Amino acid sequence: MDNKYSRQIIFNKIGRKGQEKIRKASIAIVGLGALGTVAAEQLTRAGIGKLILIDRDFIEESNLQRQALYNEEDIGKFKAETAAKKLEKINSDVKIDFFVSDLNHKNISKLLFADIILDCTDNFYTRYLINDYCKKSRIKWVYSAAVKGYGNVMAVLPEKACFRCVFNEAESDETCDTAGIINTVSTAIASIAVTQALKLILNEKIEQELIRFDIWDNDITKIKVSKNEKCPVCNGIYEYLQGKKEKGIVIYCGNNNYQFYLKNKNFNEIKNKLKKIGKVKETDFCLFFEDMAIFNDGRVLIKEKSPERAKSLVSKYIGD
Ligand SMILES: [Zn+2]
Repeated sequence: MDNKYSRQIIFNKIGRKGQEKIRKASIAIVGLGALGTVAAEQLTRAGIGKLILIDRDFIEESNLQRQALYNEEDIGKFKAETAAKKLEKINSDVKIDFFVSDLNHKNISKLLFADIILDCTDNFYTRYLINDYCKKSRIKWVYSAAVKGYGNVMAVLPEKACFRCVFNEAESDETCDTAGIINTVSTAIASIAVTQALKLILNEKIEQELIRFDIWDNDITKIKVSKNEKCPVCNGIYEYLQGKKEKGIVIYCGNNNYQFYLKNKNFNEIKNKLKKIGKVKETDFCLFFEDMAIFNDGRVLIKEKSPERAKSLVSKYIGD
């Protein structure tokens, strides 16, 4: 073990004791896109004890410009599964679990069973959900986001200011699909987030601040953050964790992918119904039928021109 991590152990901030702490730690990464793939690779090479990977989506051609673990031949495969396979080859010391799932208020406590959580998603809904869960369960987490040429990182500690203290609801959801991104910024932001996570594992002092880095302008800003007395989460109200904010339909920007949850959760019934209509391909996680993927928790992913068309196709073939 020593030789594999020797350069990290020589680094005086880590040392042999620090490496042992890293080896014993578990981290869950939510979202295996531009930030998540880079973070997962860095943590795997650093010899983290266990990684839990959660992602709901497939690999698309437009992901390859910045999503580090995927190749051209991976287009159409699930991100979480593909990332796990690549990471296992990089470092067999690391235990890796993966879930092809959409994180929601029902499954979060089962999926995010880790010492630290890394938010590498691209949406506020999931961040607020992670924030609720981590505050209530007293888990440390790291928020990270990148778009265009800049990004944010903030380590969130249970007793200090939370994500919702800093970011109010209804922030604009500018994403890589709508505003673009250069790959150097996602790599840099993931690196800052992973460094914060390693410092949390080593019990280093973490400043209560939002780190903003603009790689295009070479500008790093550290904004002091403090608790907001009106923050519902810090006052024990967990709206996202209670499912009060769950959306019926999620639109994946830019690529015409839509996500629904079916009321009918009888997977076998749905499977038999679709088999009568046409060709159904079955994998470990889902059924493929035309441009639809139907998961065993009732989630449907569909590629269509508009949410209305997507909804009508789902109800035509599967029902509500
Ligand atoms: Zn708060």
